[in-house]
Amino acid sequence: MHTDLVAALDIGGTKIAGALVDGQGRILVRAQRPTPARKDGETVMRAVDVVLGELTASPLWEHARAVGIGSAGPVDASTGTVSPVNVPGWRDYPLVAGVRAATGGLPVELIGDGVAITAAEHWQGAARGHDNALCMVVSTGVGGGLVLGGRLHPGPTGNAGHIGHISVDLDGDPCPCGSRGCVERIASGPNIARRALANGWLPGPDGDTSAAAVATAARAGDPVAVASFARAARALAAGIAATATLVEIDIAVVGGGVGKAGEVLFAPLRQALTEYATLSFVRRLVVTPARMGTDAGLVGAAAAALTRRTDPAAAGV
Ligand SMILES: [Zn+2]
Repeated sequence: MHTDLVAALDIGGTKIAGALVDGQGRILVRAQRPTPARKDGETVMRAVDVVLGELTASPLWEHARAVGIGSAGPVDASTGTVSPVNVPGWRDYPLVAGVRAATGGLPVELIGDGVAITAAEHWQGAARGHDNALCMVVSTGVGGGLVLGGRLHPGPTGNAGHIGHISVDLDGDPCPCGSRGCVERIASGPNIARRALANGWLPGPDGDTSAAAVATAARAGDPVAVASFARAARALAAGIAATATLVEIDIAVVGGGVGKAGEVLFAPLRQALTEYATLSFVRRLVVTPARMGTDAGLVGAAAAALTRRTDPAAAGV
């Protein structure tokens, strides 16, 4: 019954999640540990090994045929290494070799977390049935991935579609990545909140200064909060329009914490797209909220492992 199982790892700055997933994307076994993100690289790897140890202890493990990893980036699938910005102990860290050793030599597929989310949305979520899609995660950072010609397009290193670091403001603020005016520098949750505060927005009695609190204020009509979301929406729209013009996507899926803001984000985003996506072949571009929940990273990593072994079209991924 379980001949199609794969193991999936979702590795981020706060948690390391693992699962055994079947060919329909159902999660059968789970394991999770906090990421010791400030510790040295070997300590972080030991946390991965603990998660994998729980999976390999399952009676279902004998059916696992491959491992998919979605990791905070940058990743380098060509060398099997990762250098997550928020895990400083891992720089060019040989994660694929470590996971292969811990799993008895199973084949390992490594992709960036934005690419993993994209694989999940294409397999089971809002991009299902779309052959050309951009999926984005707008939260503490801004990431993304591409589906082109019906297939996930991770690129040579597993980072393709990283829309957060496309510059949409040539003379804009310096971005931690080294560039200027990146989508992330304008549209991430912390930057939405920072801009609202800088322009005079005052948090409520609870003192919450998160982007979610700015969204609540925007829904109540606070003009500074509305303006901060509108600015984020314009940055996202410019990045989406550029992507659509380059590779002819027909849907952009927006998820992550900021993506949950609803119409305070999506209304100005759709409006701004009419200004930036102007050529005939991008005008029908649809923007829609993500549908996958917190398991998107695991499901997407599983999808990458499944497509490694099978014809992607046959797997429906
Ligand atoms: Zn940047």
